[in-house]
Amino acid sequence: MSSPIIIGNWKMNGLTQEAKHIVSTLLTYATNHHNFAKTVVCPPFTQLQLVKEMIESSPFGLGAQDCHFEDKGAHTGDISPAMLQDIGVKYVVLGHSERRKDHQESDQLVLKKTIAAQNKGLLPVVCIGETKQERETNQQEKIVEAQLKGSLPQNFNGLVAYEPIWAIGTGLTANNDQISEMIQFIRKKLVAQYGENGKKISILYGGSVKPGNVRDIYATPELGGVLVGGVSIVPDDFIKLIDIAQ
Ligand code: PEP
Repeated sequence: MSSPIIIGNWKMNGLTQEAKHIVSTLLTYATNHHNFAKTVVCPPFTQLQLVKEMIESSPFGLGAQDCHFEDKGAHTGDISPAMLQDIGVKYVVLGHSERRKDHQESDQLVLKKTIAAQNKGLLPVVCIGETKQERETNQQEKIVEAQLKGSLPQNFNGLVAYEPIWAIGTGLTANNDQISEMIQFIRKKLVAQYGENGKKISILYGGSVKPGNVRDIYATPELGGVLVGGVSIVPDDFIKLIDIAQ
């Protein structure tokens, strides 16, 4: 893998002191290391402003974990792409399996969010992946293909994260062959859909990535990086993922 991107999804974690601790650890790392892998942190909405101010003159990027598809209006509790752009957010994770499950987000909704995010200059990180039952019945390619077709717009300017649901937060990691086969499959589909541009779309892997397995994961041909949940709020381990990618 040439130049991976490492995206940390804090999920619903990170009170102020914890957020400060995580980001301070990253900043200390950055003062002692140069030219390390592109790293993005996605704190909860409540910590975006704080994290933005802390990382302002550092190499770290800022991401959010979701957004609405409208720019403003009567959508109580939602956050729009315009609001994210307004405070300096660059990336937005969309269609995460936890949102698909907890909030019944469909491919159609993810597609609308993806288009809206792109229109505001954000880089969507669109998550796809099969359940355990779908993997056990060998339906993973069918599922992933349908999610790609349903969630990505005609003009896509973002990243794709392959996250097998059975590997998220479970400690189970897809093995090298499973990751590699699916990355190749997604690449083939992206090229079929976008031609030459499909070759440039970064495809990430997510699912129980940790210091102990990340070397093997980074070795996956064509992998563009990793989307990390649990380990992203354990700063000493998270910086190991950055360090190993150098
Ligand atoms: C995720 O939330 O996208 C994720 C991959 O979580 P974890 O690393 O904890 O499996």
